[in-house]
Amino acid sequence: MVKLRSLALMTLISSVWACSFNPSNPSQKGASPPGPNTPLAQSESEPRPSVFITQHAIVQGSSIYNMLKQEGVNPSTILEWVNKAKAIIQLKEVTPGAQFKLSWDSPEKKNVTSFELRYAADASLLIEKAANQQDWTAKKVNFPITTVQKTFHGVVDSSLWESAEIVGVDASLITNLAEVFAWQIDFNRAVKRGDRWRLTVEQRYVEDKPIGWGNILVAEYENDGQMFTGIRFPQNGEQASYYAPNGQSLRRMFLKSPIKFGRITSGFSTSRFHPILRENRPHNGVDYGAPIGTPVLAVGRGQVEFAAYNGGSGKMVRIRHNGIYSTAYLHLSGFAPGIRHGSQVEQGQVVGYVGTTGLSTGPHLHFAFFENGVYRDPIGLRFPSADPVASGEMQDFQKTVASTLRTLPDWQMANNQDKPRQDSVKPTSPIDRPNQEALFH
Ligand SMILES: [Zn+2]
Repeated sequence: MVKLRSLALMTLISSVWACSFNPSNPSQKGASPPGPNTPLAQSESEPRPSVFITQHAIVQGSSIYNMLKQEGVNPSTILEWVNKAKAIIQLKEVTPGAQFKLSWDSPEKKNVTSFELRYAADASLLIEKAANQQDWTAKKVNFPITTVQKTFHGVVDSSLWESAEIVGVDASLITNLAEVFAWQIDFNRAVKRGDRWRLTVEQRYVEDKPIGWGNILVAEYENDGQMFTGIRFPQNGEQASYYAPNGQSLRRMFLKSPIKFGRITSGFSTSRFHPILRENRPHNGVDYGAPIGTPVLAVGRGQVEFAAYNGGSGKMVRIRHNGIYSTAYLHLSGFAPGIRHGSQVEQGQVVGYVGTTGLSTGPHLHFAFFENGVYRDPIGLRFPSADPVASGEMQDFQKTVASTLRTLPDWQMANNQDKPRQDSVKPTSPIDRPNQEALFH
């Protein structure tokens, strides 16, 4: 009874650990047996007299060091733990909200015998007394992640986000959906009322608690009456990519260079000496040396969102390829016919000509690549394969197509739930659909 009263005074937090947390002496009758996720339980090889556990969370404005000190852990012990933990995690970087458990040899908290910190949804740090009862040992404890398939469907009324919200889909999952079809649909601009979508996704769990989304296995999006299907498939030894049911990749490649026979004269750099401004500044692109008048090619299909003189950039073209990627072409001597704000360009189309307009020391093209509005080094970028499914893998792929399409929720259900419709449901079998590849070239 004394034990129980003193335990009640300790900080008890029911949350992540609620199911494995057992404040009583594990040797006591009726205590739950130590499971795989209860590393604090007594180990057979190393008998301890009793274990008393307190559980805490790092509060805002405090630190793990202060919290441990406050709980009565000796500062020199804390420093030893910090050192032991270094190979696994930097304790000073642990953020508020992280939970930890301390075990003690008595309810009066005389001697601490272990420290366990849950620093990630699926991992914790465990520091225990070594066999010699003097030193401390640190190890990482992994919690098994299980995945469950979930399906969702929605119909767009005012926006894609709203259609997701209605059916309980969070922003991160709808972002992943938009990424699957990023090359087919510009979700920032092309979403129409009446668009509909459905998907099957893995949800990841640790100890029956959802910790986030895994991969979208299959998704369909009908944009302005046109249906797109993406099936996740890992080709031999490659990163998984999304394919149309005919095996064409949903990804599009960029040309390796915007100039046919240019050479790189200056690479991407976070700091380089600017020859005109005479100071160190980032070089947010790649320079290609080429004679004035050399044609400059759009590295991908897209829409021109800028084609005009732009201060130090000189004559410049900027192309938006999809909701994620844009490219810019600077210091041009002139624009190709038809290149103006809003015009559509195909991959490899001439958009302008090499020049030396703006802040430029000589004829060259400055080529910039943006990912979500941030400068990226186009030379260093690696994309998953844009190649179609190889013929040797086609059989496996077709099996995946058949089995994953079957997991999708019924369109009719989506319509009934979100917005009743009178029109008939279009066939969704891949056989009835036109070749998606043909529609995008
Ligand atoms: Zn440059």
